Amino acid sequence: MPSLPKPTRRPWQPAPAKRVYQQHEARDSRYDTAQWQAARKAQIARCPCCVVCTSLGRTTPATVTDHITPVRLGGSFWDANNHQSLCRACHQAKSASERTQTAPRG
Ligand SMILES: [Zn+2]
Repeated sequence: MPSLPKPTRRPWQPAPAKRVYQQHEARDSRYDTAQWQAARKAQIARCPCCVVCTSLGRTTPATVTDHITPVRLGGSFWDANNHQSLCRACHQAKSASERTQTAPRG
C-alpha cells in the first residue's frame, strides 16, 4: 500500500510562529573613523580593566569601549564621559539587554 508523505503539520494545529529576527541596525559609520579608534584607545588606556568585572571583584582586561548611555538612546557618541571600558563578555551582555530597550519619546 502506498503511503502518503507525512505532513509536517497537522491541519488542526496552529502554524508555527515565524521567527522574527531582529534586523541589525545599520552600523554607525563613526566606528570606522580614526577619531573613534583614537577615542577607543584613549578610553582603554585611561581605564584598562573592565568596569563591570571590577565591580564584581574580578580583574579582566578591557577590550571594548562602550557607550554608557547607548547612542541610540540619546547618549553622546564622542563625549568621553559617556565611555567606559568593558571586556567582550560584559559588552555583549550589556548590548543584549539594551536591545530590548526603546528610545525615550520626545
Ligand atoms: Zn567584564
